[in-house]
Amino acid sequence: MKQKFCSLRGMSDILPSDIAAWQRLEATAREVFGVFGFNEIRTPIAEETALFERGVGEDTEVIGKEMYSFLDKGERNISLRPEGTASAARCYIEHAVHQREPVSKWFYIGPMFRYERMKTGRYRQFHQLGAEAFGIAEPQQDAELIQLALAFLQKLGIAQVRLELNSLGNADCRRRFSEKTHAYFSNHRHVLSADLQKTLDKNPLRLLDSKEEVMAPLIASAPLLLEHLDEASREHFEELQRLLRLSDIDFVLNPRLVRGLDYYSRTAFEIIADSPLLGTAGTVCGGGRYDGLMEQLGGPSTPAVGFAMGLERLCLLMGADAKPGFEGPLLFLADAGAGDEVWKLLLRLRKAGLVVEADLRGGSVKSQLKRANKLNAQYCLVLGEAELQTGKAQLKDMRNSTEREVVLAELEGMLR
Ligand code: ATP
Ligand code: MG
Repeated sequence: MKQKFCSLRGMSDILPSDIAAWQRLEATAREVFGVFGFNEIRTPIAEETALFERGVGEDTEVIGKEMYSFLDKGERNISLRPEGTASAARCYIEHAVHQREPVSKWFYIGPMFRYERMKTGRYRQFHQLGAEAFGIAEPQQDAELIQLALAFLQKLGIAQVRLELNSLGNADCRRRFSEKTHAYFSNHRHVLSADLQKTLDKNPLRLLDSKEEVMAPLIASAPLLLEHLDEASREHFEELQRLLRLSDIDFVLNPRLVRGLDYYSRTAFEIIADSPLLGTAGTVCGGGRYDGLMEQLGGPSTPAVGFAMGLERLCLLMGADAKPGFEGPLLFLADAGAGDEVWKLLLRLRKAGLVVEADLRGGSVKSQLKRANKLNAQYCLVLGEAELQTGKAQLKDMRNSTEREVVLAELEGMLR
């Protein structure tokens, strides 16, 4: 028996019938991100594993459990990227971009890989649209990014969303808060699984981000970071909120929002769409500030803030209205004995930028016309010897079956 191949679990094909939503997402992204002054970057989908360990944090869910890591043929430990920020920061440092420009605003679109348990809105290969702004520490930059994310969603027609906001303070206050959190959860050590106990000892703040059921009530009464913010972070956070109000952006403060990755400082935010279409995977955008990341990766001290959106989740939300589908060709050429002349005309019209199809299998005129119908062609021309001799043919409008005579030499102008 022949072996039957399937795509890997959690990794999907996107067929032409589904491509419209993706193309609309990408075109809208390029338009809206361009308006906000963001330029596209493309980085490789694989990097040294150490980059993600250092950048994202070794004991985060993503690095600890979800990475596709392997030794390549040169025994290098490499990983498929689970997210885009570490790569963007690596790229920024490697090309010494800070020496050329004080502020860089970048975006990327591409596949990410995480070995996760599959469900609606959660896959092993998924696509993110991300933005990174390097060089500005002021809350104005945080506000601009949030405006951008919301403007993009709005342009897609996804307006039913909630913006949640928190501040994680500076490294120092996170350290103090981490100790407090450790003490709190230590009192409940007996109800924690072995795994959670390990997290408690390695990185207690991660527990606040845990999605495990036993954790929900514990997290609900855990100490709040907002109450321990350092003065500068508090001012930063208040100014951000003022700017958002000034921009007519609604938000809710969520003191439990810690985000899954280690590199955040100060601002953390999520945009959530509470739609049944997404099941439990309602977060469409996650982002925040990571002023310490560049230095952690051996680069120049550079303030930075960014976000990433999950495109599969946006596709689910866009649903049917994003599927205008393939329109069908403007013209179908049927060959009734014109032979090479059909072939030449096809090429001539396509060079003029017109969407023209023919049935390359040949066959009877009847079967060719069947194909024209199936393709949903708007007009059809049947070309035989008579048409070649007179240089004229009947152009049939397939939608209402009317016909009119056209001069073959003038087809381009006429069809336009
Ligand atoms: P979650 O809490 O849903 O696991 P996360 O905190 O791991 O999200 P981020 O790393 O912040 O997610 O990624 C940003 C966005 O990318 C998410 O808000 C989501 O929209 C999308 N995303 C993350 N993981 C997946 C996945 N496995 N499949 C599809 N989309 C994903
Ligand atoms: Mg996750």
